[in-house]
Amino acid sequence: MNFRRQILSQFPELEDPKSHPRFTGIPSFMRAPFTENLTDLDIAMCGVPYDGGVTNRTGTRLGPRDVRIQSTMMRCYNQATGAAPYEKARIGDIGDAWPVMPFELEHAHKEIESFFQEIKEAGALPLAVGGDHSMSLPILRALAKDGPVALVQIDAHCDTGGMYQGSEHHHGSSFSAAVNEGLIDPKKSVQIGIRGGTIVPDLWKFSHDHGMRVITIDELYDMGIATAMQEACDIVGDTPTYVTFDIDSLDPAFAPGTGTPEIGGITSYEALKMVRSLKDLNIIGADIVEVSPPFDPSGGTALIAATLMFELLCLMADCVDRNKGS
Ligand code: MN
Ligand code: MN
Repeated sequence: MNFRRQILSQFPELEDPKSHPRFTGIPSFMRAPFTENLTDLDIAMCGVPYDGGVTNRTGTRLGPRDVRIQSTMMRCYNQATGAAPYEKARIGDIGDAWPVMPFELEHAHKEIESFFQEIKEAGALPLAVGGDHSMSLPILRALAKDGPVALVQIDAHCDTGGMYQGSEHHHGSSFSAAVNEGLIDPKKSVQIGIRGGTIVPDLWKFSHDHGMRVITIDELYDMGIATAMQEACDIVGDTPTYVTFDIDSLDPAFAPGTGTPEIGGITSYEALKMVRSLKDLNIIGADIVEVSPPFDPSGGTALIAATLMFELLCLMADCVDRNKGS
């Protein structure tokens, strides 16, 4: 051990875990330091290994673990945008919001909410990896206590459904609940990439009735991605905004590892461009949800999620930096 330390001392750059060989050590998100001390952080990366809200194939409880492993591929600088998140913000992995009582959905949601409440109270921005999409509701309950926030949701589904099999809360109803609870402003909410069959003629009636902007996959391609994303940015403006990215927005050819796949989706390159286009928003938190490792034997879906998480991290670090200046 001492001999190893002696050799390491000749390479001071190896002090930083992000400089360790990426296949070594315990895999934190992006190889950022693991810490439970929230006061040291501007951005708190965390997992929500919970899938008690899925209506189809389970497995997203394993998402955070696989995304952590794939995220060891992430580096410090964003070649495309020039972003240098670790120079702009203090970033760490704070572990998982794992519910002690996972079999009681509403109790699990309360536990998740209190985890994110602590992050908010410490003044850090959460960047979460799920987990099924029901987790966005307790996160919004924690973040939007002072009033409704704006929402950018990239997803194959609006998730503004109602009761399903006698349950109000599930991964297909998070955003109707968030509107009803006054957590998001529907007029400043944009849902992009929507497609697939529905069980009733107008499954996303709630979104339309409440003035949420629903950009279907056809409209997205007809308008062009840049135009659609500009419209999304114009709708939310400088309102504090929550960004939620459902991995099933991608075509299953790229991201098969998810519980509710819909063909005819965006490519991984388009996903990168869409996230990057949110660079001027005032982001107060973000999540990437619905990665289901049992359907992702190559780890490719988790790699996409890890890379999109890095893109979100770059945007959020720039937000931290801008807010420091103001
Ligand atoms: Mn979805
Ligand atoms: Mn969803």
